[in-house]
Amino acid sequence: MTDTQGKPNLLDLNFHQLEDFIVGLGEKPFRARQVWQWLWQNAVASPQEMTNISKDLRARLEESSCIVLPRVAKRLQSSDGTVKFVLELADGAQIETVLIPEKTHITQCLSSQAGCAMGCTFCSTGTMGLKRNLTHGEILGQILLARADLEASGSALRLRNLVFMGMGEPLLNFEHLVNALESLRHPQGLDISTRRITVSTVGIVPGILEFGRTGLGSLAVSLHAPTQELRARLMPKAARLPLDKLMEILRQYPLAHREKLTFEYVLLGGVNDRAEHARELVRLMSHVKGKVNLIAYNPSPGLPYEAPDPADVEAFQKILWDKSVTVTLRKSKGKDIFAACGQLVTASERGDD
Ligand code: SAH
Ligand code: SF4
Repeated sequence: MTDTQGKPNLLDLNFHQLEDFIVGLGEKPFRARQVWQWLWQNAVASPQEMTNISKDLRARLEESSCIVLPRVAKRLQSSDGTVKFVLELADGAQIETVLIPEKTHITQCLSSQAGCAMGCTFCSTGTMGLKRNLTHGEILGQILLARADLEASGSALRLRNLVFMGMGEPLLNFEHLVNALESLRHPQGLDISTRRITVSTVGIVPGILEFGRTGLGSLAVSLHAPTQELRARLMPKAARLPLDKLMEILRQYPLAHREKLTFEYVLLGGVNDRAEHARELVRLMSHVKGKVNLIAYNPSPGLPYEAPDPADVEAFQKILWDKSVTVTLRKSKGKDIFAACGQLVTASERGDD
């Protein structure tokens, strides 16, 4: 992404690209490290703030590049402490990111695309269609903005975990995703460990195994149904990759010792939350190294599904437990500000703005 005068945005360059850019300006490559540090650790808004580099280089950077972050269009705080940001990108597209406070740290939910092409029938983002892929700078810019916000609010909790569970299907923006994940772990940059990163996908080929080979994060797979027929009803586009094929691919997924895949399963009241579904799911899980993360559906305006009955959620969980399937129930946060999973749709689309 470039600004209106067509200058490159320094935040869109990975480390090697920045190095090339700096060398192109006639400087030694090691200057790139300093500039990188200013960008990602000090979050400067202009080269003029880069006080340990020469005035001359600062001026040349100013002339030939720009530093553009997404703009915070809205900041909404939930009664449970969850904060949602609506961000506006340089071309006016909007995305959302959410900060979720846990007991000891904060988890940030990141967007990878503006909108989503997959159109899962229960997901608000899916109703928007795909606007476009996010760039390196737009993916990581969400983290810079979160850090600035935490600092400004004097939060005692540190940002620790990152989950790609906001808008978009990360593996359909593969190149920028992998580039951003590489940059994330740079010690002179954001310096976030790969172990703290989870990428959630409905299952895209060849992206899944390619992502596995990078070793740049853990994988969560949005399953939501234990049979092909039901999955095709809930997620028609994702289910073009048949369930048995998806499971076969996941069996080849490179896992570290004791590592497991996470299977996300959104419980939709009366649709996929019956005992028979739980038993089918147990059968499916017997073929892979995986654990199940149940999510009670957050009803979204205009979509034809209901939250599950808490008793059904408990019964579903128990069937898995009894068969020794590791299962957790995700607590939904930020419902009052539509920041919960699948409620990410920009307000202008929702029509309440
Ligand atoms: N596109 C990716 C990542 C973003 S969605 C994916 O689908 O995996 C992150 C998770 O939120 C997915 O598991 C998704 O199915 C779930 N989700 C979507 N809508 C939801 C809703 N209304 N309530 C609860 N979870 C939802
Ligand atoms: Fe896209 Fe994920 Fe929503 Fe499906 S659930 S429409 S893949 S964001």
